[in-house]
Amino acid sequence: MSNTLPCLFVDLPTIAGNASAMVDLCQSSHINPVGIIKLACGSRDVASAMLEGGIKTIGDSRIDNLEKIADLPVEKMLLRIPQISRALDTVKYADISLNSEEHTLRALSAAAVALNRTHRVIVMHDLGDLREGCINADDTVALARLAASLPGLALEGVGANLACYGGVEPTTENQQQLVDIAHRIEAELGIGLHTVSGASSAALPLLLRHGVPVGINQLRLGASLILGIGLNDEPIPGTSQDAVRLAVEIVELKEKPSVPTGSTALDAFGNKPVFEDFGIRQRAICAIGKQDIDFAELQAVDPGVRIIGGSSDHLILDVSESALNYQVGDAVYFTLSYGGTLQCMTSDYVRKEYVH
Ligand SMILES: *Cc1c(COP(=O)(O)O)cnc(C)c1O
Repeated sequence: MSNTLPCLFVDLPTIAGNASAMVDLCQSSHINPVGIIKLACGSRDVASAMLEGGIKTIGDSRIDNLEKIADLPVEKMLLRIPQISRALDTVKYADISLNSEEHTLRALSAAAVALNRTHRVIVMHDLGDLREGCINADDTVALARLAASLPGLALEGVGANLACYGGVEPTTENQQQLVDIAHRIEAELGIGLHTVSGASSAALPLLLRHGVPVGINQLRLGASLILGIGLNDEPIPGTSQDAVRLAVEIVELKEKPSVPTGSTALDAFGNKPVFEDFGIRQRAICAIGKQDIDFAELQAVDPGVRIIGGSSDHLILDVSESALNYQVGDAVYFTLSYGGTLQCMTSDYVRKEYVH
């Protein structure tokens, strides 16, 4: 097997362990967690690790990612509001989708009829985060009524998303609002809803404080299962933050001054660089660049390594304070934020190694 760098190492038993811990936590509150794999670009290995941990439904925001796991025998959910142009694929590859538009529901209905399938719909209500969903409860109820009446569709329930765009935190109050809307739909339509889908990993701190109201019976969990983080990127008790590591290779190692000689021009990205003089330092150039990752999303595992900058294809480190005796060709390891993980997962230039 190739062992080239840069490489993103993804530890599957750690993800399975995180999934198992969150399944246990959710089940004790009668909540069914959906495992979200978009952070891993729809990786089948990551989906399988979640299933091993007891997850029963897999979700992704992109239909192309769900297509990658089409033959995994598990219920699948499309998170991003479906595109009308991809209504057929949505019905083909997702059992359930999150919806907020009448025209889209009609397109999904036609697609479901054409494919002779029943597609399940969760109607989204906007609790204030200002991403997807109807902001007005009357509109949410009307959309639910439409979903329940269209051929080929089944109304699965209602949902809401928080802490994604507007940074609105899941609270007992806003989660209760969603439960109230679910009850209103059940009363007005005379039907029972299967699913009240509260929020993402951002709701886990509230769940740990027993603040998620009765009636919320689903959470959609991605960051917590893969990175062990939730609201404000803080670690979730009971999970590991060690599943994902980036290794990059040192291609040059030299002592150099910390201030350039004759600096007047702009850097490759049009910024005027600023330098502080720390004297002569041991500097490592690594083979990864801003094309692959925003350096602000990286944190070296070795406390003696400091990121000092770089360019499209080079990451420059100050390794003077390290206790390790780095050599050219050695690997340097980093932990990544949510955004950094996503970028490396998406970059074709970063190899992925799924560790079983
Ligand atoms: C991405 C996403 C999630 C999962 O969010 P995490 O913070 O990764 O847990 C949940 N719901 C929706 C609608 C999403 O788009």
